[in-house]
Amino acid sequence: MASEVKITFLGGLGEIGRNCATIEQDGEAVLIDCGLMFPTLDTPGVDLILPDFSYLRELGKKLVACVLTHGHEDHTGGLSYLLRELKFPIYGSEITLGLARNRIDEAGLTDNCSFEVVKDLERRKIGPFEFEFIPVTHSVPHSFALAIRSAKGVIFHSGDFKIDLTPVDSRLMDLARIGEISKSEGIRLLLADSTNAEENGHSESESIVGDALMEVFAKHSSGRIIVGCFASHIHRIQQIANVATAVDRKVFTLGRSMGKNVALARKLGILQIDDDMILDIEEVSKYPPDKVCIISTGSQGEPLSALTLMALGQNRWLEVGQGDLVILSADAIPGNETAVGKVIDGLYRRGARVVHPANAKVHTSGHAKRDELRTLLAIAKPEYFVPVHGEYRHLYNHSRIAMEMGIDSENVLLAQDGDSIVLGDDSLEFSDVVPAGYLYVDGVVGDVSHGVLRDRKVLSEEGVLVIFAAVDISNAEILVGPEIATKGFIPADEGSIRLEEIIQRSREVLSKELANGNVDKESLSKAVRSAIGKLVSRQTKRKPMIIPVITEV
Ligand SMILES: [Zn+2]
Ligand SMILES: [Zn+2]
Repeated sequence: MASEVKITFLGGLGEIGRNCATIEQDGEAVLIDCGLMFPTLDTPGVDLILPDFSYLRELGKKLVACVLTHGHEDHTGGLSYLLRELKFPIYGSEITLGLARNRIDEAGLTDNCSFEVVKDLERRKIGPFEFEFIPVTHSVPHSFALAIRSAKGVIFHSGDFKIDLTPVDSRLMDLARIGEISKSEGIRLLLADSTNAEENGHSESESIVGDALMEVFAKHSSGRIIVGCFASHIHRIQQIANVATAVDRKVFTLGRSMGKNVALARKLGILQIDDDMILDIEEVSKYPPDKVCIISTGSQGEPLSALTLMALGQNRWLEVGQGDLVILSADAIPGNETAVGKVIDGLYRRGARVVHPANAKVHTSGHAKRDELRTLLAIAKPEYFVPVHGEYRHLYNHSRIAMEMGIDSENVLLAQDGDSIVLGDDSLEFSDVVPAGYLYVDGVVGDVSHGVLRDRKVLSEEGVLVIFAAVDISNAEILVGPEIATKGFIPADEGSIRLEEIIQRSREVLSKELANGNVDKESLSKAVRSAIGKLVSRQTKRKPMIIPVITEV
C-alpha cells in the first residue's frame, strides 16, 4: 500500500491571515506558507497574531522545509517566530524570499534557515514530494501556485491568485500548464483561494489602475501628490512611478518598508524607475509641489504609519495641506475601515483632497472572483476540492461553486483551522484535529492569553475600580479604609452610584466577614468583589473590573 498523504491546516481557513499548512508523507512534512494576521479593534494592545505552532513543534525534525507561495506577510510573517525554534530551508521566488527575509533578518534568525530560489515552472524535490512552481498573477510579483506530486497523485494549491490577462509585468498565470497537468496526470485534490468567493464576475486587471491614476494625476497639476499603497505591491508602485514620470514629477518613498521593498525590487530588476527620477525623502522640500509624487505606506490607517502621521499633522517630512492630493490606492482590509476613515477625515481637515477606491478606480483586488474561481475549477478538473484562504462564508461559498461546477458534494470538504485531511487511493477524509488557536504577540515576544485580552477589553470598555482596606484579622477589625480609586469608571453624582455608597457597602461586607471568622485574605477579597459587583451592576448597568486589595496589618 502506498503511503498516506496528510494535509493539516494551521491557519487561514476561517480568517483572512496567518496562512499556514503542512503536507506530510512517509514521516516527513513540508510547511506551505507561515503567515501572520494583523490585529483588529477586538484585540487591544496586540501587535500581531500567529498560528499555534504546537503541531509544528511536535513535528520537530520531521519538518524538512517551508515552501512559500508568495511574499505577503499573511503567508511569510510567521517565519521570524517559528525559526526561533526550528531550522529548515525556505523555497520561493526571488522576490518572495527577499520580502520574507526582511523580518527574518530583523529577528537575527538568518542562520536558522537557507533561502532556495526557484524559478517559474521549475520542479524541485522537497522532502518526499516533487513541487512544481506554476506562475500565477496576484498583488505581489512572482507568486506561485504549487503542483505537488505525492504518493497519491497531484495536489494543486492555487496560492493567492487572480486571473489577470494583462498583468503589469506580462507574466501570465500559466493556465495552459495547469490544463496539461490535469490532462496528463490528473489533479486529485485542488486547494484554492476563497477570498473573493462572494464576489460575482471577474476581477479587473491591475493595468486599469494605471489608467485611472493617469487621469487623476493629469487633473491635479498644482500641489503635491501623495499615494498610499501596500509596500509589497510592486506592480502598483511601478504604475504610480510610471504616471509620475509621465507628468514630470519626481518619486519619493515614505515609510520604512516602502523604502526597503522599492530598493529590493529595483535591485532584482522587477521595478523600473530611472535613478534620476527617484529621490530621497530628505530632499522633498527642495522641489516645487507640482514636481513631487510621494509613495507612502499607511494605506490601512496603521497607527504610526507615514500616512496616519500625515493626517495628524505629525509627519516628519511633510505637512499636508491646501492644494495637496492624497490617493489611497488600496481597499481597507476588513477590520481596518474605521482607522482608514479617520485618516481620510484627518487629511480633509488639513485641506487636502482625497481620492480613494470609493470615488475613483485607483485599486483592484488581487484575488480571483467567482468567474475566475470557476475557470480554475474547469481547467484543473480536480477529483477532490477543499476551499482555503478565507473566512467561513468565503470557504462555504467557494465550496458551493465547486459543487455547481460538477464536483460531487461528497468530494468537497469544508475544512477549518486545526483540521487534518488524509488523501487515500479513493478517498479524502478528515483525520485528527490539532491545536490551531490564535497566538497573540504583544511587544518583542510572548503569548498574550485570552484572559489578558478579556481583561483589556473590560478595562477599555468599563474601566477599573480598586477597593483598598487594611485589616487586623485576629481582632476582626478594619484598620484603614476602605478607600477607592477608579480609572475609566466614573461613579456619577446623581441618579447613579456614589463613591460613598461603594465604600459603605465594602465596609459592611468586610465587617460581617471578619465577625464571622473569615481569616483568609483571598476569600475576603472575593466577598467584597462579589458584593460591589452586584451593587454597581444593579445601579449603573456597568461592569467595571473590580480589584479589592485587602492587606493584613
Ligand atoms: Zn497574497
Ligand atoms: Zn493571502
